[in-house]
Amino acid sequence: MGQDTAGAAARAFRLLNSPALRQPTRNAPAERRTTSTTPAAPLDLGLLDYLNAHVDEVITHTRAAAGEPGPVPRQRADIYDWCEQVIPTTEEDQQLLLRTMLERHRLEHAVRLGDFNAIRKEFCPACGCLGLFWEDAAQRAACSNRRCRTPDGLTQRWTLARLAAQKAGGTEKWRRNAT
Ligand SMILES: [Zn+2]
Repeated sequence: MGQDTAGAAARAFRLLNSPALRQPTRNAPAERRTTSTTPAAPLDLGLLDYLNAHVDEVITHTRAAAGEPGPVPRQRADIYDWCEQVIPTTEEDQQLLLRTMLERHRLEHAVRLGDFNAIRKEFCPACGCLGLFWEDAAQRAACSNRRCRTPDGLTQRWTLARLAAQKAGGTEKWRRNAT
């Protein structure tokens, strides 16, 4: 897998966590706006919830895998380095779990930032081509290869979790074909 997954996830996290992006924005989920009877929140609650959920997930899984990973970093974006450093000390199945989580966070943060190039750099799990593009409505990466179809003849679509598992496990189709 890419050496810099944790670094890329941390950089994207810092961008998402910057004051400019945390203002109330057009990206706030609709249900927040329609049910709110109070004045506009000072921060984008949708984004704050998103960031909090990701931090909680990294802390929970790192602690579960490592037992004593040391104190949680004060800077929230530093949890990615913190997690990556304990990976080599954990059991093999836990290493895969943590690496998959880091890859998924990297992709989720990229999508949240609108950096869809990150999706185009991933290999389609079915055909192995570099023709994936992000479909916002489906919240999936779709394959642009017209010969790459599901058994029902539909476009192949993948969750970010699926792409992350493939990358972390080193099971990309191009890699399998090469060996
Ligand atoms: Zn494909």
